Amino acid sequence: MICLFLSLFAHFFQSGWTGVNECTFIAVKPDGVQRKMVGEIVRRFEKKGFKLVGLKLVQASEDLLRDHYWSLRSKPFFSKLITYMSSGPVVAMVWRGLDVVKTARKMLGETNPADSLPGTIRGNYCVEMGRNVIHGSDSVESAQKEISLWFHQSELNRWEDCGSQWIYN
Ligand code: ADP
Repeated sequence: MICLFLSLFAHFFQSGWTGVNECTFIAVKPDGVQRKMVGEIVRRFEKKGFKLVGLKLVQASEDLLRDHYWSLRSKPFFSKLITYMSSGPVVAMVWRGLDVVKTARKMLGETNPADSLPGTIRGNYCVEMGRNVIHGSDSVESAQKEISLWFHQSELNRWEDCGSQWIYN
């Protein structure tokens, strides 16, 4: 009985995050904030047709950043990455929409700005991997983990997007 309840719960929790309700975690990194790129980045996601459901300016603690980048803990650049990410405020955001995780990664470009196509955020606005302006979740599972790390449920807004009928058919 408990198993049935848990599997139903998991099903409904998952289905709340799929299709047009898929969410991703995007962060304008400290260099992006200092270089006044917040407006440009928000503009790109809005114009694409994604829906903003959470946004805040955060001075991230090293503990939060270590959790966020846990999978990279053994990399030689890990401590520099934590120093960089805690060097100033970050704009943390949650965006929602169909295939938003995959599409956002395309909009960001590659980890190395030199490999990023012109037109992408990293392709247009940065030069080095250690100052690559923006973070975006790399999978739906990572997005769920990262959103719950950075946001309380109460900080995610449910609102009616009047333009959605012109974005989805
Ligand atoms: P992404 O941010 O594109 O998902 P990763 O998860 O691999 O890339 O790495 C996280 C962040 O760590 C990168 O965005 C970048 O800021 C930094 N980083 C990754 N690789 C390197 C590297 N070789 N040297 C310096 N910094 C790096």
